[in-house]
Amino acid sequence: MSKEKDLECSFCGRKKAETDLLIAGMDAHICDKCIEQAHGIVEEEISDVKSNNLAKDLTLKKPLEIKEFLDQYIIGQTETKRAMAVAVYNHYKRLLQEKDNADEVEIEKSNIVLVGETGTGKTLVARTIAKMLNVPFSIVDATVLTQAGYVGEDVESILSRLLQAADYDVEKAQKGIVFIDEIDKIARKGDNPSITRDVSGEGVQQALLKLLEGTVVNVAPKGGRKHPEQKFIEVDTKNILFIAGGAFSGIDRIISKRLNMQAVGYSASISDEKIDEDNLLQYIIPSDLKAFGLIPEIIGRLPVLSYMNPLDAKTLRAILTEPKNSIIKQYAKLFMMDDVEFTIDEAALNYIVDKAVEYKLGARGLRSLCEAIFTDAMFELPSSEEKEFKVTKKYAETKLTKTALKKLRAAS
Ligand code: ADP
Repeated sequence: MSKEKDLECSFCGRKKAETDLLIAGMDAHICDKCIEQAHGIVEEEISDVKSNNLAKDLTLKKPLEIKEFLDQYIIGQTETKRAMAVAVYNHYKRLLQEKDNADEVEIEKSNIVLVGETGTGKTLVARTIAKMLNVPFSIVDATVLTQAGYVGEDVESILSRLLQAADYDVEKAQKGIVFIDEIDKIARKGDNPSITRDVSGEGVQQALLKLLEGTVVNVAPKGGRKHPEQKFIEVDTKNILFIAGGAFSGIDRIISKRLNMQAVGYSASISDEKIDEDNLLQYIIPSDLKAFGLIPEIIGRLPVLSYMNPLDAKTLRAILTEPKNSIIKQYAKLFMMDDVEFTIDEAALNYIVDKAVEYKLGARGLRSLCEAIFTDAMFELPSSEEKEFKVTKKYAETKLTKTALKKLRAAS
């Protein structure tokens, strides 16, 4: 049997004295340093396996299942959910095809553009898809983007944020999802490029084009411990799914004009059906985006076009309680953490919805309304003996003063 002082690590050969700890196995020893190194290798390998498995996992989710997942978090918006489910399914089929290097039929990217008023759930849809796929997700506001050389953020900054969301794992970032908000704000002013030269808007659209299409970009990592000394990281946007969203305010007039022209012309395809004037967005087609001021190339790179329905009282009521992490469920949980049982009656819920509609606060306003009603209780109950908090319409009314409502409207 070897003497204590002769013991050494069977991996690196360090003598016991040179280590902080030497652990004995059946016929071998391992030192603390080798354990640490092995741990690092295991972590890295597992994360590689996980990201390789990502594509495989994705094949398991069919469009129907993707929609069912979205249903848990998003009320209504059926058309968009279906369109998204198909687009995402095809996007990941495309990723698999690249791996297999199958045949020559090249599947193009299915970037998406969602048109709908603010607060109708565009960001929520994109975020929920990213959550389901367990891929990095980042949101950028198109209004802050400028052409390179102008004051503002370069288009490449979109990728810095995605890298950040991926914890600087380039492989992961390259399969992520980017939501470009307010894409309508970089529209060219006016349909005719020769009349209005709107450099910033069109310039940004041109810069975006390359990203949407797929290109390798040098991205400044802006910190990040994995690449501390690297100035730039190469990111390939080929497999990044871009979802653009915008309110496109005024586009209903463009749609209405087109529909009326169609109705008198030969192509009176929908003239037999009655046009729903209250929700013209449902008839949107790519040429409407062009008339609004997006350049045709950008529209071409966003081949999936869908719309969001405005939220009516019934939808707002459902949003309050039905989603898996609905606002009311979140408050109930917060109170439960203080052992307070929270309940709210139907009349109070309807009252909140009525106020959201009356003051045009939308879905985002539901949260502010709840906050205004529950704040006093959230302040007082944790230090009291009270174990129950029942919200009635009357209680809600006393908390929602006219001044509070006016403030909410001003803030929305
Ligand atoms: P948009 O991106 O269209 O401006 P958001 O996705 O940011 O709107 O929506 C704002 C909030 O309103 C969401 O975080 C969510 O709480 C709520 N919301 C909006 N639409 C829905 C919906 N259809 N189902 C559930 N919640 C919704």
